[in-house]
Amino acid sequence: MSPDPELSPRRAARAEAERLATEALAQIPPPAPTRRQLREGAGAARGEVPRRPSTARRGLAQTLAALPADRRRRLAVVMGAGAAVIVGVVVAIGAAAGSAHDAAASASVDDTVSAAVAGPPAVPDEGLPVPQVSAVAATATPCDDPAFTAALGQGDDTAAIAAAGGGAAFRSAVASGIAPCVSLSDPDREWLVVNKQRPLDPIDYAPGDLVMPANVRALEQSALRAAPAEALSAMVRAAADAGAGEIGYLSAFRSYSTQKSTYAGRVAVGGVAEADRESARPGYSEHQTGKAVDIVPCNGSCGTLDDVAASPQGAWVREHAWEFGFITRYAEGREDYSGYEPEAWHLRYIGPELAQAYHDGGYTTLEEFFGLPAAPTY
Ligand SMILES: [Zn+2]
Repeated sequence: MSPDPELSPRRAARAEAERLATEALAQIPPPAPTRRQLREGAGAARGEVPRRPSTARRGLAQTLAALPADRRRRLAVVMGAGAAVIVGVVVAIGAAAGSAHDAAASASVDDTVSAAVAGPPAVPDEGLPVPQVSAVAATATPCDDPAFTAALGQGDDTAAIAAAGGGAAFRSAVASGIAPCVSLSDPDREWLVVNKQRPLDPIDYAPGDLVMPANVRALEQSALRAAPAEALSAMVRAAADAGAGEIGYLSAFRSYSTQKSTYAGRVAVGGVAEADRESARPGYSEHQTGKAVDIVPCNGSCGTLDDVAASPQGAWVREHAWEFGFITRYAEGREDYSGYEPEAWHLRYIGPELAQAYHDGGYTTLEEFFGLPAAPTY
């Protein structure tokens, strides 16, 4: 085919370029999207450039097949001018992100290109964007993290909390409901929550690693689990070093059968309503977990539980117990939520990471800390 003699040399060259480009495009069969195309389309949506632009161009050819002949030629010139890779990326982004993204993605490109990408290439039913978005959201839960689930499986609470990103991140994941692999009912966990709505399971649970805390004055022969026992020893030593005086304790672990008789005794004296305000029913007591301790102030001899709140020891504990993994479980003014009148003496061990998150977050009930409902009554 010879050039049209009526055209100027420049227009003739342009016409020839258009003709060659149109022919070249016509020879590319419009392929069905391949798995690689689907992956690269999703990659473009995440800001990655497809590693094989030729694949993106085949996607463009597919789009072009649906356009009128004159639009195809105009677009072919754009490609001939060296814009093929850019156009391919725009089309890939358009295919992955849908029409809303098209407008923004192509705003800085020739109008012709915008028209070409207005409708994304045909995408099969298992299409691109929605499954990708779901997959990204799902990775936010620590339950999908092998390091987290491995630590859980090994019973290593500290490692699990670290794998979740620390105490605050762990708390947030649990409270927001995205960590179903974390059970707040597992009696062996630091994050166990026992209250009037949440009995121990089994109801007569007893921990297996009870020990007497070293170098702490015990008014009863009453043990704690190993970790809280060690933490109590460290806390008592630190309080003494700080000049706050000696901290002793009255009662730590109480078995199901002990709690049964304790509670029955309270009921006999004051009736069920009064007993429930002051003492837990058997199977509902934190003392049965081996993670709770009732401290007393000692100055030579030791005072009572009621002496804690106004004592220097009590003041120091309010400020520093969290540093050792303990919280004041039944705080002032929170009976409506915790189910108990304030007990300045009752400390619950939840581990240093969670206790720090509890302290830093200004929480006053373990229920709110983990997003649980109030438990004012049985
Ligand atoms: Zn207590």
